[in-house]
Amino acid sequence: MPDCLFCKIVAGDVPAEIVSTTDHTVAFRDINPQAPTHVLVIPRLHAPDAASLALASPEAAVALLVETRRIAMAEGHDSYRLVFNTGEGAGQTVFHAHGHVLAGRDLTWPPG
Ligand code: IMP
Repeated sequence: MPDCLFCKIVAGDVPAEIVSTTDHTVAFRDINPQAPTHVLVIPRLHAPDAASLALASPEAAVALLVETRRIAMAEGHDSYRLVFNTGEGAGQTVFHAHGHVLAGRDLTWPPG
């Protein structure tokens, strides 16, 4: 998608602090971290949100989920929060599916 920021990160046209890449995913550090570990895991395939990704490519959605856990563990966290903001009302600002991996501090419930 030409105007999609995260598609540009996947393509390497916008710089990002890359944490991992797989056949289906790219992971990079959030530019405005909300926890000591705050990594965004995104599919290479453009989909506007996580459920849309699952419908378009179950394989990519599963790969994304598995990669979120691998990253949390690799960063030394066996507890972490995985967030998929979906829709403007829930705070989604980038309409390319992404999971926020948040860890490294006490994470209260309910979230704000
Ligand atoms: P959302 O609000 O759930 O859509 O999450 C979008 C996230 O992308 C926010 O946490 C932003 O801080 C993050 N973000 C926006 N632009 C960039 C960037 O260029 N690099 C890394 N993270 C970004």
